[in-house]
Amino acid sequence: TNNNLSIFEELESSVRSYVRSFPAVFTKAKGSKIWDADGKEYLDFFAGAGALNYGHNDPKMKEKLVEYIQNDGITHSLDKATEAKGEFLRTFNDVILKPRNMEYRVMFPGPTGTNTVESALKIARKVTGRTDVISFTRGFHGMTIGSLAVSGNSAKRAGAGIPLNNTVTMPYDNFVNEEDSLDYLERFLEDNGSGVAIPAAVILETVQGEGGLNTARVEWLRRVEEICRNWGIFLIIDDVQAGVGRTGTFFSFEEAGLKPDVICLSKSIGGFGLPLAITLIKPEYDKWSPGEHNGTFRGNNHAFITATESLSYWKDDSFEKSIQAKSKRITEFLNRIVEENPDIQGKVRGRGFMQGIASSVEGLSERVASEAFKRGVIMETSGGKDEVFKLFPALTMTDEELEQGFKIIEQSVDAALS
Ligand code: PMP
Repeated sequence: TNNNLSIFEELESSVRSYVRSFPAVFTKAKGSKIWDADGKEYLDFFAGAGALNYGHNDPKMKEKLVEYIQNDGITHSLDKATEAKGEFLRTFNDVILKPRNMEYRVMFPGPTGTNTVESALKIARKVTGRTDVISFTRGFHGMTIGSLAVSGNSAKRAGAGIPLNNTVTMPYDNFVNEEDSLDYLERFLEDNGSGVAIPAAVILETVQGEGGLNTARVEWLRRVEEICRNWGIFLIIDDVQAGVGRTGTFFSFEEAGLKPDVICLSKSIGGFGLPLAITLIKPEYDKWSPGEHNGTFRGNNHAFITATESLSYWKDDSFEKSIQAKSKRITEFLNRIVEENPDIQGKVRGRGFMQGIASSVEGLSERVASEAFKRGVIMETSGGKDEVFKLFPALTMTDEELEQGFKIIEQSVDAALS
């Protein structure tokens, strides 16, 4: 039978990290529910690490995709122009960019998050003619050499086995007092007479998804942008995880009013859990000659079909309002858990639909996640020491499901503490 894990233990050579945290074979999923091969039902508070912001098998996206396949719509087309791609570009411009007064070229860098980050680093280097990139402690940008080089996580970097060059890691906001890290950055740039190179780019997440839900303040973000402007440095915002509504607005930097030179999107941009990534580039920096950045799987037509349909959620502000209202309930729930359970030694982190509790008790967050799994809630931990348990549901999760999840998570905290 296929409902045991032995085949994975025997034949799968990867790290199998999720198989360890979620020891089950999954078969079906709908909305925020997942079932395993034994028929057990789980509530999904993980949402594909942000690839499933609209839940599993959204009925409208599914209908569009099935219809497209039934009509022999083209699947793979390399860089050729297709109707599905054109429709996506038009809809993305009309629904997302124009209403926000954003003018960007849309680039399809390859299928995944790390591809958009690599393309962002490349275009920043090409346009500025410089090489260095400044990134931040606890940032995470992907697993290929370039994106790994700008990820502030030594355990992940160790996977490359070699020192990674041309990057400078600075303390992220709230790892130092007030604005110390940016004062340092400015002094560092002013001192370039000493041989320090002016960097090509600064890359950051406004909320660090993998790094423990550390959240940059609006003022800090604005000051980073100002420094970038003063020195002609590219500001790259990696919205792969925090984008597409996670923080309550389509882009995570809308409240701060940033105008990044390059924006990286992936995960939920495909809408249905299908691989799609886009890199938004200010028109004046669209400097690649044809062929300077290509790839076999950049832009998958099935993903364009579901991505276009997913943008219906953004045609008015009702979806944003519902995300924001539910986010408040998540914050209230987490605040209550921290207050009522001093033994957690917890702190609420993050914002929107990417919040969690950082606990100073060693191993506690992992215990909470594993207790939750036993009780039918799938959730993950994050942070340098996995100190955060992370509530990361689909933005479409219903109020009832949220409440049901809260109850189970509360029981799991109790169990983990006892
Ligand atoms: N950037 C951020 C902020 C991410 O969270 C991730 C993935 N967790 C990536 C980049 C890399 O995306 P992918 O795994 O699709 O390569």
